[in-house]
Amino acid sequence: LSSRASNILNSLEIPLSSEIPGVYDGQWKGSGDILESVCPTTGELLARVQAAAPNELWEALDKSKEASLVLRKIPAPKRGEVLRQIREALAAKRDALGALVSLEMGKIKTEGMGEVQEFVDICDYAVGLSRMMNGRVVASERPGHSILEVPNPLGVVGVLTAFNFPVAVYGWNFSLSFAAGNANVWKPSPSTPLCAIAVTKIIAKVLEKNGLPGALSALVSGGRDVGEAIVHRADIPLVSFTGSETVGAAVGKAVQSRFGKTILELGGNNASIVMSDADLSMAVPAVFFGAVGTAGQRCTSTRRLYLHREIAPRFLEALQKLYASLRVGDPLAEDTLLGPLHSRAAVGIYSDAVRRLRERGAQILTGGQKYDQDHLRRGNFVQPTIAMPKSTDPGDVIWSTETFAPILSVAIFDELEQAIAWNNGVPQGLSSSLWTRDMRNIGKWIGPEGADTGIVNVNAGTSGAEIGAAFGGNKSTGWGRESGGDAWKQYVRWSACTINFSDCAPLAQGVDFLA
Ligand code: NAD
Repeated sequence: LSSRASNILNSLEIPLSSEIPGVYDGQWKGSGDILESVCPTTGELLARVQAAAPNELWEALDKSKEASLVLRKIPAPKRGEVLRQIREALAAKRDALGALVSLEMGKIKTEGMGEVQEFVDICDYAVGLSRMMNGRVVASERPGHSILEVPNPLGVVGVLTAFNFPVAVYGWNFSLSFAAGNANVWKPSPSTPLCAIAVTKIIAKVLEKNGLPGALSALVSGGRDVGEAIVHRADIPLVSFTGSETVGAAVGKAVQSRFGKTILELGGNNASIVMSDADLSMAVPAVFFGAVGTAGQRCTSTRRLYLHREIAPRFLEALQKLYASLRVGDPLAEDTLLGPLHSRAAVGIYSDAVRRLRERGAQILTGGQKYDQDHLRRGNFVQPTIAMPKSTDPGDVIWSTETFAPILSVAIFDELEQAIAWNNGVPQGLSSSLWTRDMRNIGKWIGPEGADTGIVNVNAGTSGAEIGAAFGGNKSTGWGRESGGDAWKQYVRWSACTINFSDCAPLAQGVDFLA
């Protein structure tokens, strides 16, 4: 192992043995398949991680269930105090954990640290929430009666996550779910097992210090089989799934068929619309970050750009200048802006998408190839690409599918209505942004005739959401909401409790049964 990789793993107390246990339920174990963690920058094998064998998975789920019985008896504000300690422990490891995200996932260091910060922030949010997870008292139509809407913990929540946010997505789910009183079973992406092990170690230490069972934040590393086992397990009332539309559709159906609940956070295919009155000094860098940041591997990455005819040439010239200035390379180096794609497979998906664009007559304005400089050849580095497809039909496969790579397709419009129709004309509905200084455009954009996405921005890019608002998308993005807003309400079971304090028991709606 290279010295910088071993330093990062050491600082997070990840053993440097030949095989690392990837299952935690109070104890570390793992005797299932071997998962390989490969550095996307250098191709170095970082670790071999032992996934959950079926019996270990069942054991972890059973232990989580037992652990949930302990946690549900602890008052929510006390659970919040444990979260506060977890927040402190994560913040203390922010640099090392951020570096591990860069090393294993491939995003640049500032984004890796930002991802850990997101977990810290959502812990803060959940600490506050732990004193505000309130029910309601509802006015009853019957004298001497009260109706209470009461939230109680669900039990065990399954959290299945994608490779591109290997720390933050678990954070969004775990912190709200723990504050709500649930045990959590995490199945991370099989290609980012080390991030999951590091986070689990940090949480486990705090739980142990508080005399709480480790299975409140259990880890079951593995691939599709482990994910499917969680999805089909009848005693996991809520499955929170983040990943592709294809897998999400199967997960949604399977959980629904056993009457479980889901939170689905699936693919995005996000557009920015730039009007002729937009402030280009803000819009151009924001589109640049949206399209190129995280090498186009954010669910909220900008993939479609709709430019008003009047500003299109100026905008594209400025954008291409920024693309040309991009510093590519090691994501752990301070001045790098573009790291590698996460996997070899992703490079293939990028190349196929560029080929398809060319075959369909698109003009490639910039990029379109792998980098072939010596120092980039061992990693999965591809050139961010701007394409101008021939067709503007949002139903065309070029526009309607999410390619998880830095490819931005551009079209030119004359009327806002046309751009909104294109924005809304794809199956996905995660994020979109409008650049304008005209109040009337803004009113239209955020109203019933406007954007149909879960995140609708004005003079702000498609990516880089804060934790305070509910995060998620509509349509084939799955309709899920996580993080802020009312998202916490999904992690509890609600009961409407009618209590009769009076001396008689009238029926509702004046029904007179025994008269
Ligand atoms: P993926 O769908 O390949 O995998 C996601 C998870 O599902 C992994 O843990 C995987 O092991 C597991 N899995 C695979 N098959 C399964 C099955 N049959 N049953 C249960 N689990 C199964 O996604 P990915 O490539 O890791 O991530 C990229 C995708 O995630 C993109 O589409 C991206 O837009 C999406 N994403 C969405 C959000 C959001 O908030 N909307 C956030 C991050 C990523």
